[in-house]
Amino acid sequence: MKHVLTVAGSDSCGGAGIQADLKTFSALGTYGMSVITAVTAQNTTGVVMVREMDPEMVAAQINCIFEDIKVHAVKVGMVSSAEIITTIGNCLARHRAVNIVIDPVMVSKSRCNLLRPEACETLVKVLFPLATVVTPNIPEAEVIVGGTITTLEDMKGAAVEIYNKGAKNVIVKGGHMEGPAIDVLYDGKQFLQFSGERVATTNTHGTGCTFSSAIAAYLARGLTMTEAIEGAKKYIHRAIAHSFPIGRGVGPTNHFH
Ligand code: PLP
Repeated sequence: MKHVLTVAGSDSCGGAGIQADLKTFSALGTYGMSVITAVTAQNTTGVVMVREMDPEMVAAQINCIFEDIKVHAVKVGMVSSAEIITTIGNCLARHRAVNIVIDPVMVSKSRCNLLRPEACETLVKVLFPLATVVTPNIPEAEVIVGGTITTLEDMKGAAVEIYNKGAKNVIVKGGHMEGPAIDVLYDGKQFLQFSGERVATTNTHGTGCTFSSAIAAYLARGLTMTEAIEGAKKYIHRAIAHSFPIGRGVGPTNHFH
């Protein structure tokens, strides 16, 4: 059994964040562990309140796990503040964590800030050099590189720029573009494209969290980066295809179907 850790925020309605990550880890046959960075009060219609954890508590959770348990992969999601980011960076470096998937979560689909805007620079500077792979969507990639992305060539340019900030691999996700969802991977040498048919549904809460967690689970299981991304792409496609409404707003993806 491989052990996968998520360092992320709690989503009370269970569709995104820590809850989506743990469901994904289980569905992909791995053992899930969690370090909570922030607690959000939210439902399918939006985020009502966010409370960050004390950075000391974030450090204590990470240290407890690494001092006792082998961690085969780590996914980092909502990190909220510069202080929490610095803490996570120090802890992951000290414990020589491997297979680190950084999902640079910034704003929810319901337009709530999940990262303090002033902490973006710290996220890039501290966590990207530790990353085995960074998984920005187009709005996140635009903030990171400071430009507009409208074409596949723009996505490739952004992937190179983000790679140059220290990540070993970068996958820019094309879900926000029109047409089929094409993701672009850059590993420092070449580009690879991953295409998925678009599913017509509004129940897409937590898709980014689920995708990055699936990559982490597959890396923990020993797959190559390309295999892990191909597997994660298939997994998220099925999870969206089987998504369902649970409330008045944006429903979750489905991990068990
Ligand atoms: N809540 C938490 C705790 C998250 O980590 C995320 C995304 O990473 C979201 C909400 C946003 O989910 P979505 O934008 O898919 O609705």
